Amino acid sequence: MLGTMQDRPLALPHIFERAERFFPHKGIITADATGARSRRSYGEWAERTRRLATALDGLGISADGRVGTFCWNTAAHLELYFAAPCSGRVLHTLNIRLYPEQLTYIVNHAEDEVIFIERSLLGLIGPLLESFESVRHLVVIDDGAPTPLPEGYDFIDYEELIAGSEPATFTIEDENQAASMCYTSGTTGNPKGVIYTHRSTYLHTMAAMLADSVGTCERDVILPVVPMFHANAWGLAHAAVAAGADLVMPGPQMTPPALADMIVEERVTLAAGVPTIWMGVLPELEGRDTSALRVIPCGGSAVPKALSEAYREQIGLPILQAWGMTETSPVASVARLTSAMEDLSEEQQADLRAAQGMAVFGVELRIADQLTGESLPWDGETRGELQAAGPWVTGDYYNDDRAPDSFTEDGWLRTGDVAVITPEGFVRIVDRTKDVVKSGGEWISSVELENEIMAHPQVAEAAVIGVPHPKWSERPLACVVPVEGAELTKDDVLEFLDGRVAKWWLPDDVVFIDEVPKTSVGKFSKKDLRDRFGGHVLPTAE
Ligand code: AMP
Repeated sequence: MLGTMQDRPLALPHIFERAERFFPHKGIITADATGARSRRSYGEWAERTRRLATALDGLGISADGRVGTFCWNTAAHLELYFAAPCSGRVLHTLNIRLYPEQLTYIVNHAEDEVIFIERSLLGLIGPLLESFESVRHLVVIDDGAPTPLPEGYDFIDYEELIAGSEPATFTIEDENQAASMCYTSGTTGNPKGVIYTHRSTYLHTMAAMLADSVGTCERDVILPVVPMFHANAWGLAHAAVAAGADLVMPGPQMTPPALADMIVEERVTLAAGVPTIWMGVLPELEGRDTSALRVIPCGGSAVPKALSEAYREQIGLPILQAWGMTETSPVASVARLTSAMEDLSEEQQADLRAAQGMAVFGVELRIADQLTGESLPWDGETRGELQAAGPWVTGDYYNDDRAPDSFTEDGWLRTGDVAVITPEGFVRIVDRTKDVVKSGGEWISSVELENEIMAHPQVAEAAVIGVPHPKWSERPLACVVPVEGAELTKDDVLEFLDGRVAKWWLPDDVVFIDEVPKTSVGKFSKKDLRDRFGGHVLPTAE
């Protein structure tokens, strides 16, 4: 060996100490259950986080014990985000929208020892407390809600817990130690646990700060609408702390008008959430001052081109699409246009922004034949299963024997998404492997069809599922939510699609519904639609 560099662990205390040391005057604004907003500086936050870590010792939480959180995006949640891992424990963010039986499953599977619960959420979790086998302590965080404490349990008050403890010092020697965990939001079977290490979180944080990815920086005022219980709020909670950016935490105030108020009044520069959030917020921003906004990262499901374009037209800023999964920490690709793409027509650029973009530095992506595993060409046309590798892509699932199917023999993650990749390396997701409509041996992309239908000005939402067909095996059924007051017919939808998609892609039927059912993290729940319409008899099948 010719020489070495210092072998310093890539661990969360470094991220924490940057905000504490360099940016104590910056901080976090949180909205509470009453709608009031209050500010906590990073200086105060850091002191409280250190006290909280000592409090975990006082509660007797094991050295690598799982610390559950049942919280909104708040300053208190951000204290837990660092107190648990920086003291060696594992933060386990519980998805507040999971089905009750799934919550019970994940708390028991992760063996959570303590759960920190925001008061406005007690009504959701209260009935389940009895079913938690390993939980020894329940801590309640006051978020201004008057929710009564469920009877029969000893709740510890969060503020008293912190006040009664001395500040801890943080040392993490092993960067490969677990820092946090999150369960997937899958709609079939039990969720699967993904463990993030200190190293993976540190590297993912750096990636979120790269100019060509999300690009968080010190001057930002960041509004993570994406929940901290869903894939670490896409890394924004860590990246904001590392960069010293201000955070605006919406807490329980998740309605479009409340979010729009925060964007305008707090002069938010970066606001991130799933497409359904941005669909609701846009009308609320009409005529208001959004001049501080510089980037709107959006992912979790495909960003309809019409939505991104509507933002570009109304506020002069298209949406920045990103793709990822709980399993990929989650940021894996971002649709930033390259300099060469800026010469393309507006329409072509809009098309590219509706794709999922280029793998971010550190992540490798490829497409492969789902059955043979053969690697497929990047020609923009060949479809295959998207596979991912990288230092913040999981290599397994926590204590789960369903895992082997999810990885290739050479260790890449099989994402379950179907994609094409252009020669320039732009990924375009065409579907989930389970959602493509298989018509006569050919694939119809439900996502592309939905996007085209949602471009109709009288359509609020649309989801496409495959339903059985005697001749073609499956044909597309469009489930359409018209905008309020619109009188939309099946023929209107089909005429609109004519010329926009291949003839044989045209849905065989259109049903009108009040709302597309959503999963716990706001994606269209095709499973629920299939349960409801799987037996729908298509007019073409008779
Ligand atoms: P989750 O682990 O719950 O975040 O779900 C990950 C899945 O969400 C991915 O495998 C995709 O199917 C979907 N997804 C995430 N981002 C996008 C995106 N930008 N476009 C299309 N699908 C997406």
